[in-house]
Amino acid sequence: MASMVLFNEVEESYIMIKPDGVGEIISRFENNGFKLKGLKLFHCPKQLAEEHYKDLSSKPFFPKLITYITLGPVVCMAWEGVGVVASAHKLIGATNPLQGEPGIIRGDLAVQTGRNAVYGSDNPENGKREIELTEWTPVQTPWLVE
Ligand code: UDP
Ligand code: MG
Repeated sequence: MASMVLFNEVEESYIMIKPDGVGEIISRFENNGFKLKGLKLFHCPKQLAEEHYKDLSSKPFFPKLITYITLGPVVCMAWEGVGVVASAHKLIGATNPLQGEPGIIRGDLAVQTGRNAVYGSDNPENGKREIELTEWTPVQTPWLVE
């Protein structure tokens, strides 16, 4: 029941296009009616990548994951909308891109688990925390404030 309530809330999700990802990922979220609140290109330092994925630090693939995320710039985005966290998971699809159906981002735009193109927050609390972690400034701020 609690998850149903959350699904009707306006939420924020941190969506990150990983170094191998492509710009088409942005239009997938746009086309679903979500609001892009902020966006930046960012070469993530190793230490912040380790903090972002700290829950996976004991996994055997962790060193390779950190190498992957720090290979080149990522696109950090804050997306807002009703149920955006759960919808983003549906749009992004399974961790292994080969399990993705047509129309699902990872299924269409990626091939390997270790190069799966995009990240999305696990829950609304993480969405807020991850957006703060990358020191978010909404993209429209300089248009609104002199
Ligand atoms: N990953 C990997 N090998 C694995 C599992 C995960 O390289 O066997 C990488 C992959 O890039 C994945 C990330 O670690 O997106 C985080 O793993 P998680 O299980 O949280 O998958 P996600 O939530 O991204 O689908
Ligand atoms: Mg995950």
